[in-house]
Amino acid sequence: MESTSTPLDLQQLDQSHYLPVFKRVPLTLVKGEGCYVWDDKGNQYLDALAGIAVNSLGHCHPKVVQAIREQAGRLIHISNFYVSPPQAILSRRLTELSGLDRVFMTNSGGESVEAAIKLARKFAHQHGRGGEIISFEGCFHGRTMATIAAGDEKYQRGFGPMPAGFKQIAFNDPDLLAQAITEDTAAVLIEPIQGEGGIRPASAELLSAARELCDRHKLALVLDEVQCGIARTGQWFAFQQTGIKPDIMALAKGLGSGFPVGAALCSEQIAEAIDFGDHGTTFGGNPLACAAALAVLEAIERDQLVAYAAEQGERLLTRLRREAESNEWITEVRGQGLMLGVELAFPGKAVVEEMLKQGVLANCARERVMRLVPPLITPAGELDHIVDVLLAAIQEVANRE
Ligand code: PLP
Repeated sequence: MESTSTPLDLQQLDQSHYLPVFKRVPLTLVKGEGCYVWDDKGNQYLDALAGIAVNSLGHCHPKVVQAIREQAGRLIHISNFYVSPPQAILSRRLTELSGLDRVFMTNSGGESVEAAIKLARKFAHQHGRGGEIISFEGCFHGRTMATIAAGDEKYQRGFGPMPAGFKQIAFNDPDLLAQAITEDTAAVLIEPIQGEGGIRPASAELLSAARELCDRHKLALVLDEVQCGIARTGQWFAFQQTGIKPDIMALAKGLGSGFPVGAALCSEQIAEAIDFGDHGTTFGGNPLACAAALAVLEAIERDQLVAYAAEQGERLLTRLRREAESNEWITEVRGQGLMLGVELAFPGKAVVEEMLKQGVLANCARERVMRLVPPLITPAGELDHIVDVLLAAIQEVANRE
């Protein structure tokens, strides 16, 4: 242990040693409880970012802490050569909730999308099709090579050559999608609500056209619910309010409420294309991760957080949209449940800084979109406070400019 007599300059340590890929907020966080976190100086912050839509149950939820503690004392890791109770029970629960048939557990969103792409390609090859994946401008699917190849061009710069077999088209244009499909196409990959792309929902027309085209051409419809899944939009999964069902779905983020765990789910038809040894993972779905995820799903259900996210989201959306009618600085309000985006007439960076000064953690996607993805357990009063602080910060920054 370091001596306690000379306090460590942690910001300095970070700057000296950590790979500089994250533009850090100069804040060192040391503790969290519910919808609040504290920095090393004892300042308290209301968390409207939730680890980027991860802490679905807020910080250190007692049921998740208890499940992790108990499982850590019993069995942390085995290989996927063996079955563990948490993984088997979690797989059953995820299939029950989603209506899909098979589960593959991962450690992150990027890995879940990678698994989804492999499933889609194996299925396509079995049916004599090429392996091309069609995705949409503004999308984000992770930082691995295949997921940046599927993702927006800005994530690819400097990392070429890109893996082959990815095509990107404009978002929310069903006609373009119909034209883009060829004999080479394996799958259509869609975020039901683009998160990093600025909380932009896929239109009902795009989703139903994608389902219909995938059925007609025997393609896999892959939904990336890494950010919008697990109760965030007021349904267990965002697709459940669209009338369509995917063949493959990627999950992560909210599933572990902070514990790194993800999943790729698929229909039996897709699973039939897979053979032993086709895919694998050392850590994915280990007993500790699955125990954490099970505790998260149980708490969401017991505390009726799916309905709560829907009801509170509707309330905030109505308030923000009403505000936008008379607020010249807000150009649009989008989203569903507790996944909301407030698009500004100017860059949101200064608004994020102003909110931080007022004790609220938030962030900005796509430069101008204030993203609100608070924990699903945030009380109504705190949710209102987040909106109060956001509106005051917008006004403060607008007055300054
Ligand atoms: N897919 C979506 C929709 C995401 O929002 C993210 C992360 O923000 C990812 C995939 C990648 O997840 P991870 O950072 O856990 O790899």
